[in-house]
Amino acid sequence: MRLYSTKGKVAEVSFQEAVFKGLPDDNGLYMPTHIPRLPASFFEKIHELSFQEIAFEVTNTLIGDEIPAEDIKAIINDSMNFEVPLIELNENTHVLELFQGPSLAFKDFGARFMARVMSYFLQKESKHINILVATSGDTGSAVAQGFLGAKGIEVTILYPSGKVSVNQEKQLTTLGQNITALEVDGVFDDCQKLVKTAFLDKELTTQMNLSSANSINIARLIPQSFYYFWAYAQLASTKKPLVFCTPSGNFGNLCGGLIAYKMGLPVKHFIAATNANDIVPEYINSGTFNAKASVPTISNAMDVGNPSNFPRMVALFGNEYEEVKQMIAGFAFDDEETKLAITEVYHDYDYVLCPHTAVGYLGVQAYLREEKEDINTVVLATAHPSKFSDVVEPVIGVAPEMPTSLQEIIKKEKVAIKMSTNFEDFKAFLLK
Ligand SMILES: *Cc1c(COP(=O)(O)O)cnc(C)c1O
Repeated sequence: MRLYSTKGKVAEVSFQEAVFKGLPDDNGLYMPTHIPRLPASFFEKIHELSFQEIAFEVTNTLIGDEIPAEDIKAIINDSMNFEVPLIELNENTHVLELFQGPSLAFKDFGARFMARVMSYFLQKESKHINILVATSGDTGSAVAQGFLGAKGIEVTILYPSGKVSVNQEKQLTTLGQNITALEVDGVFDDCQKLVKTAFLDKELTTQMNLSSANSINIARLIPQSFYYFWAYAQLASTKKPLVFCTPSGNFGNLCGGLIAYKMGLPVKHFIAATNANDIVPEYINSGTFNAKASVPTISNAMDVGNPSNFPRMVALFGNEYEEVKQMIAGFAFDDEETKLAITEVYHDYDYVLCPHTAVGYLGVQAYLREEKEDINTVVLATAHPSKFSDVVEPVIGVAPEMPTSLQEIIKKEKVAIKMSTNFEDFKAFLLK
């Protein structure tokens, strides 16, 4: 795979280079120069394939020129080792549970795959790297879990103080080993800015081997396409048009779906659903992209005011607004609507949604109101509801059942280092 920068001011790189650089020097985003289509024969037999087999075909098609097939298989089998159930709510609406991994959120796909890809390349060159991650919650826990104990890799996680749930904070701050948590006195955008500034700081980048694990890393993006194929495989026999709704913040998850689409996955439409941070729905509906300061909501993993994958999203459509608008519908919902959706789905289907997934469910409801055709919709369920019991329990009156893995983690003691939003403080910490 060759990759270019969306800002177009630097030379093309290999997949390996893009994985370790994270961001190109011109501050754009790496994108494949070419996205190959999967053959018709793949889609004809896709319903017979396991998740791992689908993931292998997709990965081998994209990066088979840089990693031998046997090594790709090992990376897939080791990283994609949990269930991905598709739950039917009614004949038009399904929920794809992406939260059965160790951190109970969809970011496990990207983080686990990326950790193993990095280890694979590092092993060959006996190198050491420092990974910086800004998180609004789930990225951090997925990366921490994904990289825990990885040889030659130090991970520093920046999270906004008081802006992540108690359970999420425990997941970020209790692992130890090669994982360090920084509690930043600011919002998510401040954390992201510290990380982005670090990557552009000449002194830091010459002294340290910095790398990112945010959704901007291309190795995070590829595995986020797997489950779109998987959902299609489960529903292919119905022959109904397929619409995905992705509850979104930085839009890495949705970009995974767009890559699947570009590889030939038959999708009728994508729905971009957001909370009050409605920058992308507003772009889709008006044609104007207006980054704003993020506003806090109950679906806080999507509280993003300047979605970092936006340039990728439009690049996939040749930067043509009309083409983006044709393929992606956009809806935004406030916290009251989100709570009502959690209540409604609990009462109607005896199914508990996390607040993010509830935003996705609302996106599907809004879409179906205008849709005349008999279609399948798939809501991507991005987190286990028990991770957000502080929101969910008061709404439905019972605590969502907590998996035993999370019960163990919240018993442990938090260890975090306080950090200001001043870049010089952060830099001094890193150089120490
Ligand atoms: C990160 C996250 C999102 C948003 O995903 P993006 O790829 O940033 O759009 C949605 N829900 C949950 C639970 C998340 O952790």
